[in-house]
Amino acid sequence: MTYDLVIIGSGPAGLAAAIYAARAELQFVVLEKAGVSGGQVLLTYEINNYPGFKNISGFDLATALREHAESLGSNFVSCEVNSITRERDKTYHISCDNGTEYVSKAVIACTGADHKRLGIPGEEELAGAGVSYCATCDGAFFKKKTVAVIGGGDTAFEDALYLSRLCEKVYIIHRRSLFRAAGSLVSLARRAQNIEFLTDTVPTEICETDGSVTSLKVKNVNSGAESSIDLSGVFIAIGMRPNSELFSQITECNKEGFIITSSDCSTQMPGLYAAGDVRTKDLRQIVTAVADGAVAVSSLVKYLSD
Ligand code: NAP
Repeated sequence: MTYDLVIIGSGPAGLAAAIYAARAELQFVVLEKAGVSGGQVLLTYEINNYPGFKNISGFDLATALREHAESLGSNFVSCEVNSITRERDKTYHISCDNGTEYVSKAVIACTGADHKRLGIPGEEELAGAGVSYCATCDGAFFKKKTVAVIGGGDTAFEDALYLSRLCEKVYIIHRRSLFRAAGSLVSLARRAQNIEFLTDTVPTEICETDGSVTSLKVKNVNSGAESSIDLSGVFIAIGMRPNSELFSQITECNKEGFIITSSDCSTQMPGLYAAGDVRTKDLRQIVTAVADGAVAVSSLVKYLSD
């Protein structure tokens, strides 16, 4: 069969797209790699800026979105997409690792983004043994210990605040003296008794003893002075890398790899849309991902009727 739409990815953008596609009575399927919905939201302990919810856990929000999409009859399939091509008849052919091929008139890329790596010695070798990219997943392993969070954005500050409730001491290590994070998060972190800021500082090596992290070497970017901090965990929160490889063959991405889109979420390839963190945009938040899902479906409904 030829679908009207295949949605690839089921984070907030994909789930919102599914809700809108169901309401538009499109023939569609949602392909999700991990077999679970929510994407990065699932890794978020507490969300305080999703309108209508003063405070909701990432898990609860992801579950609510999924249940909403399912209640409208959305079809979710667990599979990893290997390739996507656009054929002469203008349909998209989406091949999955389980051998299934989906044919569709339109596609929405909702594949999100992954954690960026620092690329310093010890990072790769000690991942899972004191190096983590998810404070809410791994924070409990560092109860009453000293840890560092690398980065100066919202994620770094949310992670540091979360960890400060569990750990004895948390360092926020940032390469500049100005932070990208929201002022409210920075104020909260400044008020926390056990958070110490190391600005204009970059990590240079994560060191271990018997396979577990024991210290972090850092360097002041102004003076060049090097020092070492004794700690048990390093949480890296330096931003995201878009999961756009599948689409970079068929449409334009910017130099960071984000899929170039118009404000209606259309890409340069007719019938291909991108929603959420994988696309070029000013503000990457749950609320904007959800909005993208709705906008993309509204745009492609017009495309399909043309
Ligand atoms: P981000 O805003 O891109 O911040 C990344 C931080 O890491 C920046 O401070 C950056 O420094 C630093 N950095 C990047 N590469 C580095 C390197 N190689 N070495 C050292 N430091 C490095 O990423 P994010 O915090 O993950 O947030 C991503 C998006 O999600 C943002 O739009 C954010 O607002 C949003 N978000 C929202 C919420 C929320 O609303 N609750 C929560 C989390 C994230 P520079 O500042 O010097 O570039």
